[in-house]
Order: sequence, then C-alpha cells, then structure tokens
Amino acid sequence: MTVTVDAGVLLQQLVDTISTLGFALPAATYWNAVSVAGAVSTGAHGSSLWGRGGALHDYVVGVSLVVPATEEDGFAKVVRLDENSSKDLLDAAKLSLGVLGAISKITLSIEPMFKRSVALEVKDDCEIEEQVLRFGSDHEFGDICWHPSLKASLFKLDGRAPLETPGGGTNKYRGFQPIPVERAEQSRRSEEKIEQDKDEWTLCRLSEMVLNSRVPSGNGYLNDGINFTGFPVVGYNNLMQTAGGCQDAPPQVNSDVCSWDPRVAGSFYHQTAFSVSLDKVKDLILDIKKLRDMDPSSLCGLSLYGGIYLRYVKASSAYLGQKEDAVEFDITYYRSRDAGTPRLNEDVVEEIEQMALFKYQGKPHWGKNRNIAFTSIRDRVKDLDRFVWAKSRLDPAGLFSSEWSDAILGGDRDGIISFHDHCALEGMCICSEDRHCAPESGFFCRPGKVFASARVCRYEGEEKAGGGVKPIYS
Ligand SMILES: Cc1cc2nc3c(=O)[nH]c(=O)nc-3n(C[C@H](O)[C@H](O)[C@H](O)COP(=O)(O)OP(=O)(O)OC[C@H]3O[C@@H](n4cnc5c(N)ncnc54)[C@H](O)[C@@H]3O)c2cc1C
Repeated sequence: MTVTVDAGVLLQQLVDTISTLGFALPAATYWNAVSVAGAVSTGAHGSSLWGRGGALHDYVVGVSLVVPATEEDGFAKVVRLDENSSKDLLDAAKLSLGVLGAISKITLSIEPMFKRSVALEVKDDCEIEEQVLRFGSDHEFGDICWHPSLKASLFKLDGRAPLETPGGGTNKYRGFQPIPVERAEQSRRSEEKIEQDKDEWTLCRLSEMVLNSRVPSGNGYLNDGINFTGFPVVGYNNLMQTAGGCQDAPPQVNSDVCSWDPRVAGSFYHQTAFSVSLDKVKDLILDIKKLRDMDPSSLCGLSLYGGIYLRYVKASSAYLGQKEDAVEFDITYYRSRDAGTPRLNEDVVEEIEQMALFKYQGKPHWGKNRNIAFTSIRDRVKDLDRFVWAKSRLDPAGLFSSEWSDAILGGDRDGIISFHDHCALEGMCICSEDRHCAPESGFFCRPGKVFASARVCRYEGEEKAGGGVKPIYS
C-alpha cells in the first residue's frame, strides 16, 4: 500500500488523513509539524530497527522532482523516480538535502492501522551499555533517555498493540505544548543565571525534578486523550507516534508560544546528534561514563533537556543515509546568545561530540549539529560518490546547491570550519589555540580527558558553585 502526498504536507496531517482510511505510517519524527519533504530530505527519524526502520525516507518508494532543464524544455521539468524504473536515482532523492531539485510529491509505503502501547520506566544506568543493545530488538519503537549525571535512564517501552486493544490514548508531549511568553523568558533567565553563577548544584536539582516528574505525570501521554491515569497508554498509531501543539498557538507574539520560538527570548540551545553503529555503541557509552565519573555533576545540564536521547536508526538504502544499524545519540544543551560566552562544562560536551564523531565515526544528523560535525562525512554515509553522481545527472549546473552544500559534499574543510576568536564555543572549529576558547573567562584549549586526541575548551578558573550531584540511583 502506498500514499502520495504533496511535499509541503505536514506529518500530522498525513498520518491523520491516512488513519481515516485505516492506514498507518510506522515512522515519524517526534515533532509533528515537520513537512514530509523537510523530514525526508534531512534524514529525520523516530526510533526503530524493525521492518523498514524509524526514518521517514526509508518509507519513500517514489518522488516527483522538479529539476533544471534546457530552454526548449521551459527551463524546468518534472522527473518521476520510483523503485522499479529508477532505483539508483531514488536512493539519492529520498534523502537529498534539497540539492537535487525541488520535491513536489512523495510516495510512501504505508500499512494497515495498528495501535501502540507505551509505558515509561526509570532504571539505574549500571548496565545501560548492555541494555541499549537488547532494548532496540525487544521494543519496535522504544527509546531511552540516558541521564549520566543522575545515573538513571528513562526507558520508553513502545510497541504495537492489536487494533482491538482497548484504549483511546494520545501523545501530547509536554515539551511541545504552548507556554506563555513570560514563562518561556523566565525559565531562560533562570538558566542564564545558573550558567553565570556556574551553579551546578541548582542545575542538578532541577534536572532531578524534571526526570522524577516524567513517569508520574505521564510525560504528555493521556489514556483517554484528556487525563493520564497510568501506563500503559494505548492508542491509535497516528495519535501516539508524534506530538505537537505549540505550533497552533495564535501568531501574536504576546500570547502562548513554543518554548524555542525565536521571536521571544526563550529557550536557545545547541543540538548535537550522531548515529553510531551498534558494534561501537557500548564502547562510546563506557567512555561517556568514564568522563561522567571524573566529574559526576558535569552532565546535569543535558538532563534539563531530556538527557542523552538514544534512538534506533536502521541501515538505509539512501546514499546519504545510515550504512549500518545504529543508535543515535541526540544531545541538546545550553547555548549563550553571545557567541563569545562559554557554557558550564563546555569541555565535557565538546569531548563527547568529538569522541562520537572521530573516535566512533558517528554519522551526523543532517538536520541538526554544529559545523564541526560535517567535516568528514565521506566514510559516515552509505555512498557519497553515488549521491554526487546522481546530483550531476539531475542538476548538473548545481542550481540547487550552495557553497555550504558543496563544501560538505566535496569534503572542503575550509568551507565548513573557520578559525577565529571563540570559534570552538559555537562548534565553528575545534580549538587549537586558547583564543579559540575564551581565555579571558578562564576557558583554555586542552586535550580531552578520556579521548586524548580531542581538543576542548576547559574552565580553569575558580571552583564551580555547589557541585556534588546526588544521583537518583547511587
Ligand atoms: C521541535 C523539533 C523536534 C524535532 N524532532 C525530531 C525528531 O524527532 N527526529 C528527527 O530526526 N528530527 C527532528 N527534528 C529535526 C527536523 O526533523 C528537521 O529539522 C526537519 O528538516 C524539519 O522539517 P521542516 O519541514 O521544518 O524542514 P524545512 O526546514 O522546511 O526543510 C529542511 C530542509 O529540507 C529540504 N527540503 C524541504 N522541502 C523540500 C522540497 N520540497 N524539496 C527539496 N528539498 C526540500 C531543504 O534542504 C530544507 O532546508 C525536530 C525539529 C524540531 C524543530
């Protein structure tokens, strides 16, 4: 079964519409306001190693692409690519970063409707490096939010339930609900104060509160669409697989907003997301644990943003996609609005980023990440040369390319990173001199503590305030 949609259709519109006809799309991003073309073109995904996996582009079986053409052809033509007649080009177009042409329609493989059953559980992280490998095969759509400083993990047990299972559940994930502008700005101010005071103690207490509230509150899962009465929550796939809400708030800037709305002084953060093949996941987790054990409070800041999200990504036929089955590590963390201001425990997150990218050959998520993540994608993706070949066929003049896309696809480091004062703080470079960090604020360029080849901006000023994490499990 397939469905064909216009490129700009939003994910929730798509899954709701096919649900009325009794069909389901198993894969989805967790945010429902992405367009189908935007999600597909950036390799966006949910979490699954089963079936076709959790990435939207792996459900694409056909694409209509508007590409440049000769004057006689009216300068543009529509090319139809599908699995039977043009698989080679389709494997390029199903994850294309927009550089092959403008997608006008997308055909996706769909399935008969099913329900999902979801439960959340918090456990200690003693064996997380072993559990993560098993969990992905045991739970079709499961994921794990790992909170290293709290020595705890939040497991989402998410799998299919037969259609006749009772339950009218929905997913109204709390982080995607509208909040008043004042609240968005107030919580940002609190975060800025914590950063300014280097107040790890408060950061760790807040992080504990956030994690401790997840299971009792249901974290946005509602058994009957209105109330949370306990896990498991069972509901139709389209109402459970993805969530949103704040995108529908009125456009006036003085009303409710998404917490990250750039029109207000709310949340502002970096995202670092890389997928690491299953055989390397355990060692990366053990390295992160070593870093954590050297300074147990240093990763509390990640927990404020949900911890290290571990999601499963299946090997793909897309040339810019995943080579092998993998776990994606998705990290969100504080970002100063001033590019020259470092953040608390800057060095630890930078070391994780470099370790994952360079020691464990992590593949960066195309729709997230800072510049340094894209310096060496050749060995990270399935077949870069084949993608470049397809690009030369579909858009030989490079009308849909930019200096940025040329630099990434051509491996031109100088077009990706740049060296200047403070460049490492924003991920524009890896530091090689102190001035790339913020020596005037006590941040100097130093080797990694676990991954010695890393070069990170480490604070060597006065002690941090508070410190001392009280792990949820010790
Ligand atoms: C709150 C939030 C939650 C998120 N959650 C997830 C998640 O769970 N999993 C995940 O993997 N990602 C996630 N993301 C990242 C997200 O999936 C990507 O940023 C995605 O690209 C967003 O889709 P969009 O429609 O907004 O993209 P756009 O910004 O509109 O498009 C992204 C890119 O896709 C290409 N593109 C778009 N339309 C076309 C077209 N018609 N033809 C050709 N190329 C096109 C262009 O290169 C464009 O720059 C999240 C993002 C947000 C903001």
